[in-house]
Amino acid sequence: AQIKQAEFIKSSSHESECPKDGLPEFAVVGRSNVGKSSLVNALVHRKELAQTSKRPGKTQLINHYLINKTWYLVDLPGYGFAKAPTEIRTDWNKFTKSYFLRRKSLVAVLLLVDASIPPLQIDLDCASWLGQNQIPVSLVFTKCDKKKKKKNGGRKPEENVNDFQEQLKFSYKETPPYIMTSSVTNQGRDELLLHIAQLKSY
Ligand code: GDP
Repeated sequence: AQIKQAEFIKSSSHESECPKDGLPEFAVVGRSNVGKSSLVNALVHRKELAQTSKRPGKTQLINHYLINKTWYLVDLPGYGFAKAPTEIRTDWNKFTKSYFLRRKSLVAVLLLVDASIPPLQIDLDCASWLGQNQIPVSLVFTKCDKKKKKKNGGRKPEENVNDFQEQLKFSYKETPPYIMTSSVTNQGRDELLLHIAQLKSY
């Protein structure tokens, strides 16, 4: 399961504008600064493929990348900008939730969670919402190369990952599959691609 070809197809502002060829797709989502662009770029071996806007308040778009001409990797806007005004947070909800609920060709959401810090409520809420709406989720923990730091609660990535799953138990009958990754060491890259290939062929 390797990515031989990645091609940017289009940016859409609504689910109705997304590609209509029905190819299976995987949507990448996470809190802003979680390491989403780094992961997408590491996955497709490119430095600047994911160039979605980092600034809150900029137009939020659904970006479709066609991979090996057979499936889409979909880059969604990040959530949880600390300084974003309430309207933008509400917009994120309306916008992405309608994409998740409408998109028939969505195979799974790859929910990115920062493994270098203890679980955040906003990530738990996002995971719970997806679970409650029967949208398949795979947890992709990022920054697993980071050493434990006092300011991060002095916990190792493994401990944060376990805590996150423990706190999700209330929203899921079965905890979602998870993969530990790092865009610095490329840890989990092949595992993630294999995981995508397996889900795609169900
Ligand atoms: P985005 O806002 O989710 O797209 O996040 P970025 O990909 O821009 O990354 C945010 C910050 O986290 C940047 O300073 C990255 O260098 C850093 N970062 C991203 N991925 C990793 C990782 O796997 N390990 C480490 N140590 N830092 C990372």
